[in-house]
Amino acid sequence: MASVPPPPIPPQLSHSDEPSSKKTRIETKTIPTTKHSQRQLHLAVAGCSHGEMDYIYSTLAKMERNRGYKFDLLICCGDYQALRNNADINTINVPHKHRKLGTFHQYYSGEKVAPILTIFIGGNHEATGFMAELPYGGWVAPNIYYLGFASVVQFAGLQAKVPHENAIGFEETKFVALDKPNDQKKFNKFLEAIDIPIAEDACMELQYDPVWLAILKATDELTSISRHNVYLPDAASFKPTSEAAESVKALFDGEFTIPRNFQPTAPPYRQNEGKNEPCLYYRNPQTTEFCDKLGITNLNRLLYEANNECNGIPFIELAARANADGTEVIDVGDDDSGDEYGEEFFASSSTATEPLPEAE
Ligand SMILES: [Zn+2]
Repeated sequence: MASVPPPPIPPQLSHSDEPSSKKTRIETKTIPTTKHSQRQLHLAVAGCSHGEMDYIYSTLAKMERNRGYKFDLLICCGDYQALRNNADINTINVPHKHRKLGTFHQYYSGEKVAPILTIFIGGNHEATGFMAELPYGGWVAPNIYYLGFASVVQFAGLQAKVPHENAIGFEETKFVALDKPNDQKKFNKFLEAIDIPIAEDACMELQYDPVWLAILKATDELTSISRHNVYLPDAASFKPTSEAAESVKALFDGEFTIPRNFQPTAPPYRQNEGKNEPCLYYRNPQTTEFCDKLGITNLNRLLYEANNECNGIPFIELAARANADGTEVIDVGDDDSGDEYGEEFFASSSTATEPLPEAE
């Protein structure tokens, strides 16, 4: 058996199975506009998604037909379960009987495309390895965006952010998301439609929040993968200054639209894949691009370098190589034999084949 590294754990948010006081929230803040506007943002909000993307989108399509409009944005409030393949199932912290692949993988592979721009925050039952590739947020599939460990984005002049103990000084309107899509008794309650007035010329693309970028930059020295406690200084000392905001603006050339730069890292699910595919960790090109641009420490790279036994080569690279060689796109070994994946599959084959130190 290939050894499976303990996947890095993102901060835990709450889950709708838990008491309602602990439900996951996404908080939005309307950024005041001076123009009077009749335009409405048609927002859909889902509770736990539990990998049921097909079910959610088909339900939303029905709601659209009944209401006679299209949704502009879907927000999923946790337990999204972005499982790319069978290996990802091993990274999710749920009881065995609840482990199933779901339908997300079809959106990841490109077989289907999310019909509504979708953003989600992590709950306490996620594909933790995949999420840890995108600590600052990123696309998990075309048109589906993960908000990262703690992040703020803008859409149509609204802010959406991951609720966090240390969130600094925003006034929010909050909404609490609902039930699970696979609980038939609560069928009608897992999706909610909300209309919010927006500016006539509102940008309908996801954008980075410049203040959040300035906070990330100001707190960069605290980024650490140490197992020791990191003591956080007083949050007030990291309040971004107007100079910091200006410097971020310069780095981004004033263009905060989040690039549509999704690329698959783990191989997408294949029908004949085995149950014991190795669970590998990847450097995600989106995270590299973001950190290089903002000039901050790349947490994905730190985790990758600290974890050299089970690192993978991104699918996109292997596919390009296979194309160049005229060979078949990645053969990761046959059926259930866990240790026949071939050295080519591992980024650092020397460490991959070294015996593990004896346990005490
Ligand atoms: Zn859940």
